[in-house]
Amino acid sequence: MLFFSCAQQKEGSMSPTPDEDNVRGHLERLASDEFQGRMPFTEGEKKTLDYLVSEFEKAGAVPGNNGSWYQEVPMAEVNSILNGNLLVEGSGQQIEFQQAAEYVALTRRVSETVDIRNSPMVFAGYGIVAPEYDWNDYEGLDVKGKTVIVLVNDPGFGMGDTSFFKGNTMTYYGRWTYKYEEAARQGAEAVLIVHKTIPAGYPWGVVENGWSGPQLYLESEDGNQGRCAAEGWISWDSFQKILETSGTDPSLINDAKTNAFQAVELGLTCSLGMSNTIRHSKSQNVVAMIPGTESPEEVILYSAHWDHLGIGKPIDGDSIYNGFLDNASGTSCILELARMFGSEYAAPKRSIVFLAVTAEEQGLLGSAFYSENPIFDPAKSVANINTDGLTMNGPMKDLTVVGYGQSELDDYAERAAHKQDRYIIPDPDPGKGYFFRSDHFSFAKIGIPALYCEGGADHAEQGKEYAEEMKMEYLINRYHKPQDNYDPDADLRGLLNDIRIFYDVGNELANAEAWPQWREGSEFKSIRDQYMN
Ligand SMILES: [Zn+2]
Repeated sequence: MLFFSCAQQKEGSMSPTPDEDNVRGHLERLASDEFQGRMPFTEGEKKTLDYLVSEFEKAGAVPGNNGSWYQEVPMAEVNSILNGNLLVEGSGQQIEFQQAAEYVALTRRVSETVDIRNSPMVFAGYGIVAPEYDWNDYEGLDVKGKTVIVLVNDPGFGMGDTSFFKGNTMTYYGRWTYKYEEAARQGAEAVLIVHKTIPAGYPWGVVENGWSGPQLYLESEDGNQGRCAAEGWISWDSFQKILETSGTDPSLINDAKTNAFQAVELGLTCSLGMSNTIRHSKSQNVVAMIPGTESPEEVILYSAHWDHLGIGKPIDGDSIYNGFLDNASGTSCILELARMFGSEYAAPKRSIVFLAVTAEEQGLLGSAFYSENPIFDPAKSVANINTDGLTMNGPMKDLTVVGYGQSELDDYAERAAHKQDRYIIPDPDPGKGYFFRSDHFSFAKIGIPALYCEGGADHAEQGKEYAEEMKMEYLINRYHKPQDNYDPDADLRGLLNDIRIFYDVGNELANAEAWPQWREGSEFKSIRDQYMN
């Protein structure tokens, strides 16, 4: 262990450099068939964990969870089977909606049955409580024991005004996960999101497939009883029928886009039931740290998900989903960062923590568990830097920042990029909500400023078109397929440059007293401000 070295040495040119052979070694190993696609709960998990711990140890890191390398993540697999149609009654009428075709519902509760009877229905607009926009769809409303119906996306979508929410850039409030969480916080018994293809970004078929079959969830001590008993979707046409039956003017849907909107009791009740088969499982996050020399309780959190999809349906004769980019790349990257920060030339003043998290592919579960059970005080957590799916197509001129504009970490990334004569650009497709789709989001959700970036849009030698072609080639042929294999010819120059950026950002934060802030208008700012003041 080398973190007692003298502070003078780390000034000047003796800064640690990412090493290609190390990185290649990690990539080859993690993406090898020996690791069986790194699926949680399998032999592949055990092999991966052993490898990570031994490499972190070699790097000079110490166990990060009160003497342990692990944080246990309890999960429940719940397979909900709906008992029949959704029954809506009131105004002397009774209508039924067909499961799968017109509505879907699941439960996160670890209970064998769900039985919702005559639950009063409320239309709660977008189902959003957003203090920074002075917006509260639940204001003055008591939804305990009731079923709330909410619209998909957020009110800014399609309004042509980027200052209203974020226009077409999806905010956290537009995500279905948020709507379910908020309904649960409000005490609703059930929550149904009204589907519409354009604002959802996907057709009904995606909902129909996604909301059926076994689902893996985190399991809280009370078996997720704090969640709504049913979380589902209802088709647009079904919602129109509900409004008609209740005698409610459908223009209400447009009113929901205004601040004057007030939730409406529909004068109808609904009933639905389901039977659930439950299995309990445990997986592990790996937690390693390089303790800081001056303020060890203040931490910079690097994260990367170690898991992938395991062994599955064969494609072209290959059934092992090795997950080379997704995410042996990010995992190798944090192993190399641990070695760099563990070198005698680093000696960071604040602690550097490496979280290799589990079950990202099942819905960011490992990092979500960390954020619900943080090992390091969020108020002492300076920033998160997440690495996921780093492209290995050679050196890039850009550094693409997903969620650009969210926090001051953009400035740190920009400074680091400039040292390599690279420029910073926002995610070209912010409407897709990528900021909410990897592990950094779990940290953002508890207010920790989070950075998610990589080069990939502008190849330093071959230009933008080539970079785009390479990206598409991956998405079409390899993403989430057994073909995401280790490639001995992969050009790692770009990955090494990106590692240097992740190092520089973390190193600047680790040797300063600064606390990067969320910017005005970020949906995470008020969460951070609540415990930082
Ligand atoms: Zn993935």
